[in-house]
Amino acid sequence: MIIDGKQIASNLRASLKAQVTDFKKQHNITPSLTVVLVGNDPASDVYVRNKVKQTLEVGMISNEIRLSQQTSESELLTLLDELNTDDSVHGILVQLPLPKAIDEQRVISAINPDKDVDGFHAQNSGRLLNGEPGALVPCTPQGCVILAQSHLGDDLSGKHVVIIGRSNIVGKPVSLLFLQAHCTVTITHSRTANLKDVVKQADIVVAAVGIPKMVKGDWLKPGCVVIDVGINRITNEEGKTALVGDVDFIEAEKVASAITPVPGGVGPMTIACLLKNTLQAAQNQLAH
Ligand code: NDP
Repeated sequence: MIIDGKQIASNLRASLKAQVTDFKKQHNITPSLTVVLVGNDPASDVYVRNKVKQTLEVGMISNEIRLSQQTSESELLTLLDELNTDDSVHGILVQLPLPKAIDEQRVISAINPDKDVDGFHAQNSGRLLNGEPGALVPCTPQGCVILAQSHLGDDLSGKHVVIIGRSNIVGKPVSLLFLQAHCTVTITHSRTANLKDVVKQADIVVAAVGIPKMVKGDWLKPGCVVIDVGINRITNEEGKTALVGDVDFIEAEKVASAITPVPGGVGPMTIACLLKNTLQAAQNQLAH
């Protein structure tokens, strides 16, 4: 079975739209998201346009601030200071990657943690670690759990999840979310010994590596669920560029009970969960 991330993301957005309508009625406040894009990276441009479009579609306010490639770190930090204290801004997202002259970590740390809808601020990592309700959790990891639940049901207790990759934006936070869902979690990385044998034990495999089609069919336990986070641009046999995941889809599909495709799997969930976080941020700010 193919897990249809596009459809599941669309259902989530429909549910968020209804929640945003209720929130507006109850509090007379429209949740708002400000996206800051520095420079003119074409991929970032597409991501930002999609974010703006979907923010508006669920009935929230979208502000887009585009800055030139030459913007200095201090100019960006000054802008963030203003957004941090502007009560009409509930969520702030600085599109990554930033130009090389700007220190990404310093910028992430400068965002008000209550408005950090990417969930990358150290304070939000801590809240996730502590399992605090209402924490702003990174979007792609949230999407991975929702996709696994769409096939296995909400109760994932006792499932063995093997995560390939330990980055701060995917591998580590997704491992904490599955742990919170009472799974047994194994985190693997580039130094893991006998990776194939470890992956073979998994009920749920999350691949977040960045190596095209690395995970082969014979790495998988029959009937497992595969969540493929990877987005890799390759040139296929016909000389055309194509997007592929970290899992060899054709092989894996024959062994797994369910698998997310690339594109159309985890990708659409990331923006839907960003909108979920924006509503959560607006709710949290009201409660403070
Ligand atoms: P990083 O490069 O930050 O992390 C990759 C991880 O993979 C590292 O922990 C690394 O291990 C591990 N790794 C590398 N080589 C191997 C190997 N041979 N065997 C086992 N583990 C290995 O990547 P990200 O987490 O940022 O992204 C991973 C993928 O997910 C990328 O393709 C990215 O484009 C995609 N992505 C997709 C998103 C979406 O919305 N769908 C969002 C974010 C990312 P080590 O730590 O030891 O170096």
